[in-house]
Amino acid sequence: MKDKFKAAIGNWEYHDVKLLEKELQTGGKGIKELLEQRMIEIEEKESNNVCPTCNDYINKEENHYTLVFGSKHFRKRANFCAADCLMYFVNKMNELEKDRRKKTKDEIVK
Ligand SMILES: [Zn+2]
Repeated sequence: MKDKFKAAIGNWEYHDVKLLEKELQTGGKGIKELLEQRMIEIEEKESNNVCPTCNDYINKEENHYTLVFGSKHFRKRANFCAADCLMYFVNKMNELEKDRRKKTKDEIVK
């Protein structure tokens, strides 16, 4: 990672390096936002082009829906071709979660 970063800033002028240093000293919020944006772009490019509900091909140039879920450190992303496919998926997840909660509650009662 250090080598890649070194290569990336290899031909920067002093002024640019100084700006980066200043940005990092103040928390690097702008850089963090750029990195998050880049991660979203990569995930968009690499994520599956097939709707998990109906298995139709998703043309990302056209209207589609993206659901981002999971914990802060393990985000998952799913693309859907239409709102009804997204709703079906969310309802299924909701049912699974209700079952899981019920089982946990039943185990506590025993
Ligand atoms: Zn679909």
